[in-house]
Amino acid sequence: MRVLTDFPGGGAADIRIDGSRISFDAPAHNCPQPMWFCLRVVEAAGQPLELVVRNAGRCLGGDTMAATRPVVGVDGEWSRVPDEQVWYDHEAHQLHFRLTPASDQVTVAYCYPYQLADLQRRLAELAAHPHLERLLLGRSPAGRPLEAVRVTDPSANGRKQLIWCVARQHAGEVPGSFVFEGLLEAWLAATPEAAQLRRETVLCALPMVDVDAVETGSYGKDQSPVDFNRDWTACPHHPAIARLLETIAEDAAQHDYRLFLDLHAPHPSGVSFLVPARGLLADPGGWDEHWRLGALLEAASAPPVRLADYPPHSLDWELRLADSVATEANRRSFGTIATTLEIAYHRDASGELVGPTSWRAVGAALTGAIARWLA
Ligand SMILES: [Zn+2]
Repeated sequence: MRVLTDFPGGGAADIRIDGSRISFDAPAHNCPQPMWFCLRVVEAAGQPLELVVRNAGRCLGGDTMAATRPVVGVDGEWSRVPDEQVWYDHEAHQLHFRLTPASDQVTVAYCYPYQLADLQRRLAELAAHPHLERLLLGRSPAGRPLEAVRVTDPSANGRKQLIWCVARQHAGEVPGSFVFEGLLEAWLAATPEAAQLRRETVLCALPMVDVDAVETGSYGKDQSPVDFNRDWTACPHHPAIARLLETIAEDAAQHDYRLFLDLHAPHPSGVSFLVPARGLLADPGGWDEHWRLGALLEAASAPPVRLADYPPHSLDWELRLADSVATEANRRSFGTIATTLEIAYHRDASGELVGPTSWRAVGAALTGAIARWLA
C-alpha cells in the first residue's frame, strides 16, 4: 500500500502508515489553520482501512471538523463516506473514518475536489454558446491561467447591468466552484428568461482566483503574506487581485454595476448563508436591496438558503477586516451591492448532506434570484 499526494489538489502532511491505519495532518502550507486534505491510496483494494486526520482540532473551525463527511473517488466517481464510518475523537481532537478501497486507486478528500482541469473542461463544453466569451485575465505566480468568463448577448449593445462574480479566493472552498457552474449554466440556458438576462446584463467572473493553492492542495485562507480576500487594497500583493480591480473598474465605467458576488464556504459544520458587505449596514437603501436579493434566493432555492441562517457573528469578521475584503472594496469603490455566499461543505440547514448536484441547484437558484432582483 502507498499513499500519494503528487496530483492536482493533492495535499496531506506527515503521512504515517501503520498496518491498516493511515494517519496524516491536513496540510498547513502557508496558512495558520488548515482544512483541505486530499490523498490517493494505491494498492489497497479490498483492505479495510482506518484514516485519521490528526490535526483536525487545529483546523479552521476546530472541533467542528466533527461534522466532516469526507468523500471517496474511484475512477472519477465521488461519494461521501457514510455517517456510520466516520467518528470524531473529542479528547484527541482527531477525525477518524473507515474505508475499504473498491479499487487499486482511491482518492480521499475533505470534500468534493474541483480542480483547474475541471473548470477548463466545463468552460470548453460551454464555449460553443455564442454569448460566452472565455478570457485569460493573466497568469498566477506559478504561471497557471487566470481563466475568466464574460456572458452577454452582443446583439443587444449599449449600457447594461453588470454583475461580477469570483470564487476560490480561499482555494479549499470547493462548493463555490460547483455553485458557479450551476449559476453559469442557468445564465446560458435556452429559456426566454435567460435570453432576456443576457440581453440586459454582462456577467463577468473569475471562478478560480487562487488557482495555485487550488492545484497545490492548500486551503489558502489567512495565508501569509496576505489572504486573497484581505488584499483588495490600493496596492494588492496578489497579481490576480490587481487584475480583478483593474478589470472591474473598466467594466464598471462602461456599465451599471449592480452586484458583486463572492462564493465561499464556512467552517465544517456551517450551513449556507449570505453575508452583506459591511458598509451596507450603514446604507439603508443598500441594506434593503441586499435583503431583497436574500429573500429572492431563499424563495428560489430548495432546500432554501435562508436569511434566518445568517449568523450575526459574521458581521464581526466583516467589521474587523472589512476594508480590504472583496465585497466591501467593491461596495466602497463602485457603490455596488456586494455579498458573500457561504456554501455548506457537508450539510445544509435541514441536516441533509450536500454535494455537486445540490450546489449546482443553488447556483441555478441564484441566477433566477438575480434575474428577478434586477427586473
Ligand atoms: Zn472563504
